[in-house]
Amino acid sequence: MELVKAVASKGSQTGQSIAVRSEQKSYSYHQLISSAWRISTLLCNGGLKTAVDLKGNKHLGGIRIGIVAKPCAEFVAGILGTWLSGGVAVPLALSYPEAELLHVMNDSVSSTEPSSSHDISMILSTEDHQELLKDVAAKTAAHFSLLPPVIGTSTELDQSHNGELNVIERVQGIENFSAIEDEKPALILYTSGTTGKPKGVVHTHRSILAQVQMLANAWEYSPSDQFLHCLPLHHVHGLFNALLAPLYAGSVVEFMPKFSIRGIWQRWRESYPRKETKVDDAITVFTGVPTMYTRLIQGYEAMDPELQAISALAAGQLRLMMCGSSALPLPIMQQWEAITGHRLLERYGMTEFVMAISNPLRGVRKGGTVGKPLPGVQVKILAEDGNDDDKSGVGELCVKSPSLFKGYWKLPTVTEESFIDGGFFKTGDAVRVDEDGYYIILGRTNADIMKAGGYKLSALEIEAVLLEHPVISECCILGLPDRDYGEAVCAIVVPDAEVKRKREEELKPALSLEELSTWAKEKLAPYKLPTRLLLWESLPRNAMGKVNKKDLKRKLAADVQ
Ligand code: ATP
Ligand code: MG
Repeated sequence: MELVKAVASKGSQTGQSIAVRSEQKSYSYHQLISSAWRISTLLCNGGLKTAVDLKGNKHLGGIRIGIVAKPCAEFVAGILGTWLSGGVAVPLALSYPEAELLHVMNDSVSSTEPSSSHDISMILSTEDHQELLKDVAAKTAAHFSLLPPVIGTSTELDQSHNGELNVIERVQGIENFSAIEDEKPALILYTSGTTGKPKGVVHTHRSILAQVQMLANAWEYSPSDQFLHCLPLHHVHGLFNALLAPLYAGSVVEFMPKFSIRGIWQRWRESYPRKETKVDDAITVFTGVPTMYTRLIQGYEAMDPELQAISALAAGQLRLMMCGSSALPLPIMQQWEAITGHRLLERYGMTEFVMAISNPLRGVRKGGTVGKPLPGVQVKILAEDGNDDDKSGVGELCVKSPSLFKGYWKLPTVTEESFIDGGFFKTGDAVRVDEDGYYIILGRTNADIMKAGGYKLSALEIEAVLLEHPVISECCILGLPDRDYGEAVCAIVVPDAEVKRKREEELKPALSLEELSTWAKEKLAPYKLPTRLLLWESLPRNAMGKVNKKDLKRKLAADVQ
């Protein structure tokens, strides 16, 4: 709730200051919070079972509200409105296939017992998706409702809404809602489903606030920042790093709901040169997943030299560019720095605690590492035998943080098994700490750490080396069952399109195992060399650009047998 109040106070202090831009329209903090208030009233009066506090206010008391829409002002107002009404916001992906959408809707939103009105919840969406969602909602026990449009900004409109200043006062006086205590669930976010079915992660008002404060401080978000937002809102990266923390800091968030390489370059160029033209809607911060930067580099390479020059200068003007969600390959980081002058700030996080480790805003950003624990975060490294390892060793990363989640939705045993003594959460990620105290993510303990011929290998380390090969545009390392070695190192490689075309003209494959081994011998110990090579057109990635290695392993292992 403190977060909603912070948004409301931006609405009252600065009146017209812009919170969100979307499809050429701007929405002020004031309009956002007024709209959230309307939604909260709609929810409390919309046929859902509500509770009443001592002062007679109606509230939802933990009822779950699914929000499914492309990123837009209404989506943001929907989340804030749900919190104002004491409900639990469940941002869901439009891109989910219907079966997956039904899984998370049935898991989180709708009632397990339709007859129990206490559990009946609602799906909120915008007009453009109502047909699809009405259909899906009909298959669950959820109500369906349209998010009321947030009225686009004009200064006069803001000033004429005197009555709505009252709304801000009411929001700020909201501690009267007995339902909205800090420890109450506020958000269920689903994990990316990289290692299995997505799990619902329950965050409280307290864990959300702790995280947005942590991020806004670490990366110095401020009212002068403008974010270009091209990420989905149903994962932590897009929701926390690029929306809630910026709103907490009073920044502007501009949505580009469909990731477009040309669109991003063009948007940066539009605000160039910022200082001379005093463009007041110039983008200052960008955050993306590694594949976005790979694609942006490809887009840059396809431009003519004149456009390249201005594009590079324009991107160079941003205050901060960040990367995360999966490992940032060193060659991509280096190419990006060579083009724009930006050393990407790589950080590490997961749905369960949002962000925990980050390279510094000021200070050395070390490539191949995710930096050091953020202030307030405690970490432990658990050796394979279950003991706390010393910090120089390799082991499973465990995290304790004020932003830690409350538990997995409807999975009490999984929740219990995920914690060790002292309240540390087991991340399932293997890490190593370098000589300067920077953390290196070696990958998932169950998919990226392989055992071949008695050696323990990190798939991510091998991938990082192979990506330096001039023919390799993307790659994925997997351990496949092998009778002699336990696991064999298999490389799935996406060759560079141009090289592939040229080689095909010469009737040669883009890359052979022999060629790869000869090249890699100089860089990798013999037991780390791939013994199998597959050349693919692309890698199967999920919405966050990640490869589900467990699935791939299963499929390939079945083919091998
Ligand atoms: P699921 O839990 O459903 O299998 P997931 O773990 O991919 O999916 P998220 O919570 O979205 O779901 O992602 C967290 C994971 O992403 C981390 O556990 C880690 O493996 C990976 N990750 C995040 N940032 C980085 C990074 N900078 N480098 C390497 N891996 C990263
Ligand atoms: Mg996970």
